[in-house]
Amino acid sequence: MRIVDMRATTVTVPLEGTIRHANGAHWGRFVRTIVELETDEGIVGLGEMGGGGESAEPAFRGLRKYVIGHDPFQLEELRFKICNPTASLYNNRTQLHAALEFACLDIMGKKLGLPVYSLLGGKVRDRVPFASYLFFRPPHEGGGGEVRTPDQLVAHCRELKERHGFTVHKLKGGVFHPDAELECYRALAAAFPNDRLRYDPNAALGVEQAIRFGQAIEGLNNDYFEDPTWGLHGMRRVRSMVRIPTATNTVVVNFEQLAANILDHAVDVILLDTTFWGGIRPCIKAAGVCETFQIGIAVHSSGELGVQLATMLHLGAAVPNLTFAADAHYHHLKDDVIVGGKLSYEDGAIRVPDRPGLGVELDREKLAEYAELYRELGGYPYDQDPTRPGWFPLVPNDRWAANV
Ligand SMILES: [Mg+2]
Repeated sequence: MRIVDMRATTVTVPLEGTIRHANGAHWGRFVRTIVELETDEGIVGLGEMGGGGESAEPAFRGLRKYVIGHDPFQLEELRFKICNPTASLYNNRTQLHAALEFACLDIMGKKLGLPVYSLLGGKVRDRVPFASYLFFRPPHEGGGGEVRTPDQLVAHCRELKERHGFTVHKLKGGVFHPDAELECYRALAAAFPNDRLRYDPNAALGVEQAIRFGQAIEGLNNDYFEDPTWGLHGMRRVRSMVRIPTATNTVVVNFEQLAANILDHAVDVILLDTTFWGGIRPCIKAAGVCETFQIGIAVHSSGELGVQLATMLHLGAAVPNLTFAADAHYHHLKDDVIVGGKLSYEDGAIRVPDRPGLGVELDREKLAEYAELYRELGGYPYDQDPTRPGWFPLVPNDRWAANV
């Protein structure tokens, strides 16, 4: 079987609000690029990637000559063709490769009549649990919808918990001064004493500030302390002073960094991202290394529509050592581009698709509608804050948003 065509379509899908993070915000929508690989047998495989609020269409167009004629079952060949580790120093294609790998796995599953998890060792769970992933939000136009104060955050969390059944809550911080975010985090702990919590300021805190914050929350029901500060060495210093497991999706995102972290321990829980690591299969391999060294794993979300979500579900289904709820931005979306609309949560978990391949199909009308919306609106700068024109953060940061 050979790949005979590749299509990349950039879409923008609205979120329920603008969601803030340490580097800026998602400006009320996601921009994602959906990739379709078509074979000479008429099978179409799906992939997806983000682009920091920008289109990735030209980057995929540039790979046509590598992909057309390729046998989708030859995944290791594809890896070296697209992102050979030394050539990648120049062309940086790991994330593009991830979307192509998703599509090839989708094709393989469809050809064999098997769900993708069956190609990864089979599933050890039917449903993948998720965390609520709470973001601070500026008010909507005309006011309302703001998430800034402890009371607003607790109300927002309660609504998501009632709607989707979450029992794990992740607070995305790094927006306001750490003292204000500490107050918010404590309010969540007080309001949901039986639920688990995690705090992730996207490495915005200085080491000493992170130690102070970490020690202040030690007694709470924490899963882990995610990227409180930047760098393996900063994380190691925090870990030496705070009795909460550390976690990262920023400084252990490849095998070299994983090895460095094992040789000189800084991070306890590795958040595996099917895009950052270059595909589902590298995540499975990394999960195996973590299993050997008894390092925890979780599933990271870099913002996803249904295709990428399916990759996270198949990963979550196949790795035995997933002891933490996965992350997803998914419930902040208003819509999706897959047939049947958004996948739904039951008791804070999403059922793993059992249909052949990734188990999701494109809704062509939705794809066209949101591709048109992208053409109309264009991209947005992920590393800018719509409420603070011209602002940018330092690392460690001290340019916190005004808390009024
Ligand atoms: Mg993170």
